[in-house]
Amino acid sequence: MIEFDEFGPEKVIEVYHPKLGMHGFIVIDNTALGTGKGGVRMTPDVSLEEVFKLARAMTWKCALADLPFGGAKSGIKADPRKMSCEKKSEFIKAFAEAIREFVPLKYVPAPDMNTGEKEMDLIAKTIGSMKAATGKSKKLGGLPHELGSTGFGVFHAAVVASKFIGMNLRNAMIAVEGFGNVGSFAAKFLSEYGAKIVAVSDIEGCVYNPQGLSFEGLMKATKEKCSVVHYSGPITKKLYNYELFELPVDVIITAAVPNVINFNNVDNVKAKLIVEGSNIPIAPETEQVLHERNVLVVPDIIANAGGVISSYAEFVDGNEHKMFRMVESKIRKNVSLVLKHSKKEGKKPRDIAMQIARKRVRKKCKTCRA
Ligand code: NAD
Repeated sequence: MIEFDEFGPEKVIEVYHPKLGMHGFIVIDNTALGTGKGGVRMTPDVSLEEVFKLARAMTWKCALADLPFGGAKSGIKADPRKMSCEKKSEFIKAFAEAIREFVPLKYVPAPDMNTGEKEMDLIAKTIGSMKAATGKSKKLGGLPHELGSTGFGVFHAAVVASKFIGMNLRNAMIAVEGFGNVGSFAAKFLSEYGAKIVAVSDIEGCVYNPQGLSFEGLMKATKEKCSVVHYSGPITKKLYNYELFELPVDVIITAAVPNVINFNNVDNVKAKLIVEGSNIPIAPETEQVLHERNVLVVPDIIANAGGVISSYAEFVDGNEHKMFRMVESKIRKNVSLVLKHSKKEGKKPRDIAMQIARKRVRKKCKTCRA
C-alpha cells in the first residue's frame, strides 16, 4: 500500500505483457522540478512499495543536486539470471512500449540493478528517441554509468567532508564495502589521491591489510577470479563482511547493501567519517546515534548523486569531460552547503539535506501544500 502526501506520487502505473509474462511498475513521484528521473530495476522481488521509496528518494536527490529533474523509478519483476538474453530484451522492449506515453515529458529511465547501457539503448531505440533514456552506450551518444560517475562523486564527497572535520584524507585509512560500480571507482579515485585502502568487501567476503591494499591487485582479483577475496598480497587477512564496519579505520565508504550499520553494531564503529555511496545503508535513527558520537555521515541523497548528475549531462549534450566536471562541482558544493548548515544548526546532515530538498521542491510545486 502506498501512502501519498503533499509531494506525491503523481502517477503509479502497473504494466503487463501477458503473453511474455512481463509485469512492471512505474512510479512518477514529483515532477515540479522537471521530468521524473530514476532507474529501471529488474529483480524477481521488486515491489510497488520499493519502487515508490526509490522514486521518492530520487525526488530529494535531484532537488539536492539542483537538477531540473523530478523523482521517478520503475521496476520489472523478473530474474535475469534465469532468462536468456533474448527473453530479457523482449521484456525491456515490452516495458519500453508500455511507458512510451510518459517518456520523456514525465519520465526518463536510467540504469539500476540488472539494467545497464544495453537495456537503455534498447529503450531509446524502441521508443525512437535518444532522449528516451540516459546511461546509454557511447555508440548512441550516451554516458554509461560504467564510466564511474557515482564513485567519482563519492570520492569528492569524501574529500570535502574530510577537510570539514580536519582529517587529512591523504593519510587516512579507508574501508570500502562493495567493489562493484560505485565501490571500485570510489576506491580507484581515493587511492590515486593517496588515501590508504585497507579493507574491501564484496559478496564473497572481505580482505584487510592495515598496511594498505593495492587497487590494481583488487581489480586483478575481481577480473580474474570474480572476487576481492582472491587478492594476493602480504599479510592480508580474510574477514567476515560485518567485521569491515568495526575496523580501526578513519573512513568507511558504503557501496553495496542496505542497513549495514544498525543498532547492533553502531557502538563498535570506529571510523570518524562515513560516506554513503550505497542507498539507505544506515537508517536515519542510527545516523542520529552516529551524529551524537561525532561521527560525520554524508547521506546517500547527496553523496551518491553522481549517477543522476551524469544522466543530466547526457540529457543536455553528452560530453564526457563536462560531465565529470559537473559531478565534481555539484557534489562539492552540495556537501559543503549541507555540512556548514549542519554545524550551524547542530542537526545531522540528513536533516539539513531534507530541509533544503523539501524547500526547493515546494518552491516550484503547484500541487504541494505550502
Ligand atoms: P554493483 O552491482 O555494481 O556492485 C555491488 C557490489 O556489492 C558488488 O561488488 C557485490 O559483490 C557487493 N556486495 C553484494 N552484497 C554484498 C554484501 N553483503 N557485503 C559486501 N558486498 C556486497 O552495484 P553498484 O551499482 O555499485 O551499486 C551499489 C550501491 O550503490 C547500491 O545501493 C545502489 O543502489 C547504489 N547506487 C548506485 C549508483 C550507480 O550509478 N551505480 C548510483 C547511486 C546509488
